[in-house]
Amino acid sequence: MVVFSSIPTKLVGIIGNPLSHSLSPIMQNAAFASLKLNWLYVALPVTNTSLRHLIRDLSHIDCQGINVTIPHKQNVIQHIAELTPIARQAGAVNTLIKALNGNWIGTNTDVEGFMTPLKTRNINWKTKKAIILGCGGSARAVVTALTRLEFCNIIIAGRNIISLQKFVDTCKEMSPQLEYILWNNDSTHTLETAGFQQVLKEADLIINSTPIGMTKKYDSLKNFKTPLTDLQIDMLKDKAIIYDLIYTPRPTPLLIKAASRGHDCIDGLEMLVQQGAASLRLWTGIQDVPVQVMRNAALSSLCN
Ligand code: NAP
Repeated sequence: MVVFSSIPTKLVGIIGNPLSHSLSPIMQNAAFASLKLNWLYVALPVTNTSLRHLIRDLSHIDCQGINVTIPHKQNVIQHIAELTPIARQAGAVNTLIKALNGNWIGTNTDVEGFMTPLKTRNINWKTKKAIILGCGGSARAVVTALTRLEFCNIIIAGRNIISLQKFVDTCKEMSPQLEYILWNNDSTHTLETAGFQQVLKEADLIINSTPIGMTKKYDSLKNFKTPLTDLQIDMLKDKAIIYDLIYTPRPTPLLIKAASRGHDCIDGLEMLVQQGAASLRLWTGIQDVPVQVMRNAALSSLCN
């Protein structure tokens, strides 16, 4: 027997393109089931040209909230009435929440998602140095998080001097401790300055925010790429923490190598789970959201 509820289902969703591999619908719907909420989280693939219309239409149909992912985290900003300070600082939005007047407010829970595993380590970061490999979209949330944790030095490494300078120019006001260095791990075009080696030797936290090492296939691990060579991994301080934003495969080849040398390693799954949990808190007002249920849902989906 089908029982129809008289309470209308509340809608939330994710906009991006492509979305076929997104774990967010699985995590969020598992959380709704656990909380016994009549809410539904859907994937809404959208191109850049339709983005503005979709955002407006979703506010008209009383959508409760939206996650935003690649490639819209930055260009969505122009279509939103208001930004939270953290979204302004990151220059990127991954979550839309409803204002009382029905307008969307853009915020960023990637920053909290990235920070959560670091906070559990109870380290005073004020004297610590970090290096971020890659200067794309996720690096913005990472710089915001490291700035909030008060790292004394943050170096961003990338292969394109123009992108690097632009990145630093847009972050420098909020993150005066941010500097950049040229680096490229392509086998066809190796660019590794002596300065890069020195930065690696001094770093307390190394973050991979490039897609190097990411794959959906678990077949031949020995063919997988790592953003750092074995020699570079050997240069790291014994106590350096390695944080790879990638979560497929899990662990990544970089983390396998770093863990074998005794380093504390963090992969990208917890960031994904924690950013989702933070968005869920904002939409529902429930602080005690079922993080373990969300983690298990993501993990079982990755294993299938
Ligand atoms: P993105 O915007 O495309 O940025 C990627 C960056 O990596 C760019 O700066 C790119 O340089 C650089 N890069 C790529 N290949 C390189 C190479 N061979 N040598 C040097 N630099 C290279 O991507 P993103 O959104 O930041 O995502 C990056 C990774 O983080 C992805 O694997 C994504 O799945 C993961 N991620 C995870 C989470 C999570 O919740 N765990 C959240 C966001 C992202 P160019 O600009 O020159 O191409």
